Amino acid sequence: MLCLVTIHMKPIDMKSLINYVALKILGGSDYLLNALEEYLVNGEGPAIVAHRYNISKHQLRGYAQRIIEKSGSECRAKKIIPILKQISVDVKPIITRDENGVYTCTICNTIVAREDAEEHVRKYHKDQLTLAIKSMMEKLDEIRAKKAKAVILTSAS
Ligand SMILES: [Zn+2]
Repeated sequence: MLCLVTIHMKPIDMKSLINYVALKILGGSDYLLNALEEYLVNGEGPAIVAHRYNISKHQLRGYAQRIIEKSGSECRAKKIIPILKQISVDVKPIITRDENGVYTCTICNTIVAREDAEEHVRKYHKDQLTLAIKSMMEKLDEIRAKKAKAVILTSAS
């Protein structure tokens, strides 16, 4: 499908996307971008992808919906996902999930409920979140500088 990004489309809020992704990764959902790439970019079935990452189809669709909303369209989301992957390679979860599905914060060594993981990061480890966002923004700037002319996200495929 042809993806044309025209001048009247509002620019992608990269800060918001990066914020969302950083918080997800730090909170232990570090499979997020792989799952989204397989589902949205590669077009794999939602059941297969969800099963692979031990999440529900509903969750996977929810993640996809959020990324699409923040990107402005599905087409743009497909382009932005590989970029988000590239700039988040160094961001590692601080809350990890063990084989029993127990989430533990590796910084304060506390067990955290899955649904509270992101809130825990936001509340107690804001420094780590700020650092992760900063690192991703810097990598994005590097990519942008490298492709100064081939403006990210505005090329028609
Ligand atoms: Zn903690």
